Amino acid sequence: MSVQSVTLEKIVALCKRRGFVFQSAEIYDGINGVYDFGPLGAQLKQMIKAAWTKNVTSFAEDVVLLDGSILGSAQVWKASGHLDNFSDPLVDCLNCKKRFRADDPDINLDKACPSCGVKNWTGVRQFQLMFQTNLGALSDAASVAYLRPETAQAVFVNFKNVMTSSRVKIPFGIAQIGKAFRNEITPKQFLFRMREFEQMELEFFCKGEQASSFFDLWCERRKQFFINLGITPEKLRLRPHAADELAHYSKACFDVEYEFPFGWKELEGIANRGDFDLSQHSKFSGKELSVFDEATRTSYVPHVVECSVGVDRLFLTLLFDAYYEDNVEGEVRTVLRFSPKIAPVTAAVLPLTNKLTEQAENLYLDLKAKGYRLQFDASGSIGKRYRRQDEIGTPVCFTYDFQTLEDGTVTARNRDTLVQERIALDQVEGYLQRLLA
Ligand code: ATP
Repeated sequence: MSVQSVTLEKIVALCKRRGFVFQSAEIYDGINGVYDFGPLGAQLKQMIKAAWTKNVTSFAEDVVLLDGSILGSAQVWKASGHLDNFSDPLVDCLNCKKRFRADDPDINLDKACPSCGVKNWTGVRQFQLMFQTNLGALSDAASVAYLRPETAQAVFVNFKNVMTSSRVKIPFGIAQIGKAFRNEITPKQFLFRMREFEQMELEFFCKGEQASSFFDLWCERRKQFFINLGITPEKLRLRPHAADELAHYSKACFDVEYEFPFGWKELEGIANRGDFDLSQHSKFSGKELSVFDEATRTSYVPHVVECSVGVDRLFLTLLFDAYYEDNVEGEVRTVLRFSPKIAPVTAAVLPLTNKLTEQAENLYLDLKAKGYRLQFDASGSIGKRYRRQDEIGTPVCFTYDFQTLEDGTVTARNRDTLVQERIALDQVEGYLQRLLA
């Protein structure tokens, strides 16, 4: 009876209606490729980031955290290769003045512009994706800085600082969550391709001979992470990069892909990057970034396995995957079937009528004080309130009714099965604990 028919338009509308995501500066007509996250969106992002941190830091080897700066000097981006290579091919339509990525599958330079139907292209040129700014009052070459297009470089430039201050030993990882900025030529598909977004990146350092087995371990672990978040396993796959897709220094690269309505697309990139990153920064900074191996009494530059996923892209994936429409009592019901572990609201407490508001509120306040993510909703018919909670993915609603006054039980209504059972008030917390376990 499920009539799952998710589209990007439905997701965008639900996100706005229920306070997950808003176009940034919407009252000034918005800013392209930039979004603000409303109360439920901000909460969902927190859940995603906490789950990711747990997944990477619970690895058998040490994984420590870092929170690097967003502004980076030109030297950092020269060494990383971004200043010379981080660009996309750009083409303009001279007739309608629209800009496109020349490698966009919808663009064929032998054919007319898809926007205006006229064939009048400029030549293809490379467009630098990093946002440039100036530090301080002078705008000269020495003051140039860039907003980071990925978080990883802060990890590499701090590699020695972390090693000497934290007493971690190879193999170990450094994990970081933070904003990244890319001046995407055509931001599109909502949160899929943004200009300001958040990344969760793990750089795992090991000896060269260990890299391919850690690479395999991380590929499996990261795919399993998405399954544990409740994402449909059949809609996930690990796709190896073909030889011509690999960066020259990269030994292997797999994308974790998800089957979006607009095709299989990258959710996370996992790469065996060899010793490229530390070698480059050592070369450009003149600082020693190798480590000494006591066993062999020799120094070596560690290799890196990188796992890089966008918070926002995972957010969008979770929405697509959780979105369902079914027919309940002749009406279409929209429901987000989030795993309880990730749902921004775990439970709603609903008084059946206004007369019961005070008693129901006591239950709500008691559980809220214990740290559960709850909503209290007393307005509208009970059916309408259930629908509102379904639409934001709340796994259970506890309804306080007149029977509660008599026998101390509430109705627990399950979002997915719609089954309603009566449970004692003193069992509500245990119910929540089981849901979150
Ligand atoms: P794509 O090919 O989709 O542009 P990429 O290969 O350039 O991605 P990476 O540099 O590998 O992306 O970035 C790692 C992860 O960061 C991606 O897998 C994605 O989840 C996220 N990401 C990258 N660019 C964006 C963006 N513009 N908006 C949202 N998320 C992004």
